[in-house]
Amino acid sequence: MTSNDRRLPLTRRGLLGASTAVATAAIAGGAARPANAAPTGSRAAARRWTGAAGSSGVRLRWLGNNAWEITFGTTTILIDPWLTRFKTGTYTPEGIRDDTPLTVDPAKIDPHVSRANLILVCHGHYDHMSDVPYIAARTGATVLGTESHHNMLRALGTPPSQFCTVRGGEYLQYDGYTVEVFQSLHSMTGPSKQVPYPGTRPGTLPPRPQTVADLVEGETLAYQITVGERFRILVLSTANFVERELAGLRPDVAIVAAGGGTVHDYVGRLMRTLDYPTWVLPSHWDDFDYPLDQPAIDWGGLQPLRDAVKTASPNTKFVKLDHLQTFTP
Ligand SMILES: [Zn+2]
Repeated sequence: MTSNDRRLPLTRRGLLGASTAVATAAIAGGAARPANAAPTGSRAAARRWTGAAGSSGVRLRWLGNNAWEITFGTTTILIDPWLTRFKTGTYTPEGIRDDTPLTVDPAKIDPHVSRANLILVCHGHYDHMSDVPYIAARTGATVLGTESHHNMLRALGTPPSQFCTVRGGEYLQYDGYTVEVFQSLHSMTGPSKQVPYPGTRPGTLPPRPQTVADLVEGETLAYQITVGERFRILVLSTANFVERELAGLRPDVAIVAAGGGTVHDYVGRLMRTLDYPTWVLPSHWDDFDYPLDQPAIDWGGLQPLRDAVKTASPNTKFVKLDHLQTFTP
C-alpha cells in the first residue's frame, strides 16, 4: 500500500490497489500456457471461439466504470449500469464523501440506454446499482442479484416482479443464451484489507437508501453469459474472485476490473484459472467524477492491469475501450 492508502484507507485508490498492482504484475508470470492448450476443470469440453473478427454476432459496449451493454440478436443485457456518475470524490486524495446523496439523472442515461432484457447486478455499491431502479423501470428488464441487492432496490422503488434472486450456482436458460451465476468477492483496501461499505440487507426491507454509504456490498457475484452455446463472456465487477468458483471456465472474453493489489497474484491466478482467455476487456479503470461523454480518465489502474495480463497470459488480447466504444469479436 502507498502512504496515501495508509492515511486514507477507504479511498477508492486504496480500494482498488492501484500502486501495488505493479508488484502483482511482477510476480504473475512464468506459468502461462498457450491459449489453445488443453483445458482443465469440469467444463473441459468448452471450446474457444475461433471465428473471424466481428463474426460472433456479439457486441460489447463500455458505458464507463463497470457498466457494459452486451447485445446479440434481439437481446440486450446490461451489467451494473451506472451512467449518472454523480461526483463523490472517490479518487481524490480526500477520498469519498460518505454523505454524498444518491442521485439519478435521466438526461445522462436516456441517450445511451433504451432497452434491456436483463440487468445483471454484480454487487450493491453506488457505482454499480444506483441507476438500476430507473433503468429497470425504463426498460422493464429482469434484474438478477442477491436478496440484499433486491431489498435495497425494492426500497428504491423497483417492484419485486422484476427480480430474479440468485446466490451463485444458478445456470439459467434463456432464449438462445444462458447465464451462469458464481459467488465472488469484492476487492479489499487498507492495512486491514476491508471491503468498503460492507454488509448485507437480507430479510425485512431496509430504509430507503439515501447516500452512497447506504448501498452496501450485499455480496458480490460473477456472471458468465454463453451465447448460442458457443461464445462465452465472463464478467467480474471488482478486483477479486473465488478461484474454485471459476475453475474450469474457458471464457472467450473476460471483463476484468483493474486493481487487486491486496489480493495475492490477482491477475496471474485469474488468467490461469480461466485457462487464458482470448480477450480481456479492462473495466472499472476510469475516474467516474468525470462524465461519460468525455474520454475516460485513468485513475491509475489501467497500465498495471495491462502489464499483469501480458505477463501472465501473453497470447491474450487486451482490448481497451474508451467510453461508449464497442468491441465486436
Ligand atoms: Zn464496489
